Amino acid sequence: MAKCLRCGKPATIFLEGLRFCNDCFKIHVEKEFQSAIEGHAIGTRLINGEEQVMVALSGGKDSMVLWYLLRKFNFNVVPVHLNLNYGVFSEKSLEVIQKFSEKIGDKVLVYNIKDDFGIDMLEVFNRAKKRPRCGVCGIIKRYLLNKIALNLQVDVIATGHNLDDGAATTFKAILNWDFDTLSRNYPIVSSYKDKLVKKIKPLYRLSDKEIKMYADLVGIEYTSEACPYRIGKVTLSKTKDILDEISEDYKGIKRTFYYGYLRNKDIFQKDEAELKECKICGMPTASEDGVCSFCKLTKGLSDG
Ligand code: SF4
Ligand code: ZN
Repeated sequence: MAKCLRCGKPATIFLEGLRFCNDCFKIHVEKEFQSAIEGHAIGTRLINGEEQVMVALSGGKDSMVLWYLLRKFNFNVVPVHLNLNYGVFSEKSLEVIQKFSEKIGDKVLVYNIKDDFGIDMLEVFNRAKKRPRCGVCGIIKRYLLNKIALNLQVDVIATGHNLDDGAATTFKAILNWDFDTLSRNYPIVSSYKDKLVKKIKPLYRLSDKEIKMYADLVGIEYTSEACPYRIGKVTLSKTKDILDEISEDYKGIKRTFYYGYLRNKDIFQKDEAELKECKICGMPTASEDGVCSFCKLTKGLSDG
């Protein structure tokens, strides 16, 4: 019988050439999380113990595990959920978040995109028909989460992006020679002029599979409900499928690829141009016409 590489007991979990018993697998995941916080492969610590961290919860496995791990390692966590009003998908998200919050005794701050910010996402999607919905949704979510973080005066926003997300985003950016994405697809993005809050991705060393197995072992509930608006041409999930297929023959290639990119990030570094202030909302924007994408999408100024 195959033995756990850490303790020699019978192995129950087999991953990318590694084998663990259940207990040692949990230790492995927690060590990778701690290494991420310490900034291994990027040379910069993501957060220190004093910083207040807003964790953006979607109810999926990644953000739920992130919430759990940040608490487990005693970070000062502010859990936040932005309800997008996407029908059953949003209802299920809210349900698992509220259930877990009761279980661990953490209060979650829930915002509703329509009630709190007056935004109807269906109207926004209709207005920006030519653009991929996930791209549109991403702009709105990033803007509002930053706004919430500024109001709450937290130091950092933590999101559940994992190793598969990092590798797939980098891979897709290279296929398109998208240097903008390649210049900023890092696990840490600094704050900007008191207007953009620092952002971190503490799960960047953990794969989809590792996070799912950890959630199941520890008993963290999450929603797997598919978003009704995830429709597009070459989505990130398609790119993930391609990388998964390559990984069948090249074990660990996602990790090698993404860490290699992180180690060589200076190649893609750009001289940051001074951002303008949006003529409408005053937030930083790189847009030529001086109106940020959020304002264009929500105020119907163009198709975004
Ligand atoms: Fe938004 Fe796309 Fe995520 Fe749905 S799948 S919540 S549209 S980013
Ligand atoms: Zn604006």
